[in-house]
Amino acid sequence: ERFDIVALVHEIADAVEMEATAHRITVKVGSGVSQPPVYVFADRRRIGQVVTNLLTNSIKYGREGGCTTISFIDMFDRVMIEVADNGVGIAEKNIPRVFERFFRVDKSRSREQGGTGLGLAIVKHILDAHGQGITLRSKPGEGSTFSFALAKGAIHPQRPANTPASAG
Ligand code: ATP
Ligand code: MG
Repeated sequence: ERFDIVALVHEIADAVEMEATAHRITVKVGSGVSQPPVYVFADRRRIGQVVTNLLTNSIKYGREGGCTTISFIDMFDRVMIEVADNGVGIAEKNIPRVFERFFRVDKSRSREQGGTGLGLAIVKHILDAHGQGITLRSKPGEGSTFSFALAKGAIHPQRPANTPASAG
């Protein structure tokens, strides 16, 4: 289905606001892409789950007074969505592992935070189903940035109707 990803992100940012405030974290929906609406073609409910999981993580593993920023980057036929925090960060050796089911970096801290270690495995699974990957850049003590792309849901076709899709 075709929907406005900027509107969806705003909706979810509003929904997690109470939790963010409780952790003294600010959630900002930045621009990047020219002007909303930014239409994508994806499963709205499941992408909502992806954004929710990434945002709740950035709040859970954020630092008091910290900030999470969601930005949109135009990539011609796709839109890149980035969720960046300045929280505890993730050690390099654990970066590939956080997408595994039940993997949690710091067992004691994580237990205190609650959760099962499934959030990012679900995120990866949903993006896989969309034919998209997810990348993570992180530095302990500095923060983490998760990025994924979605196909644009253009109103007008991006090529003339008489051009074969497989040309070239
Ligand atoms: P659940 O999502 O099931 O409630 P969870 O948050 O522990 O539990 P994941 O979302 O899969 O599970 O995350 C796996 C682990 O990756 C977390 O336990 C945490 O150690 C680490 N992690 C995830 N997101 C971040 C982040 N933004 N900053 C720092 N560490 C993170
Ligand atoms: Mg989680």
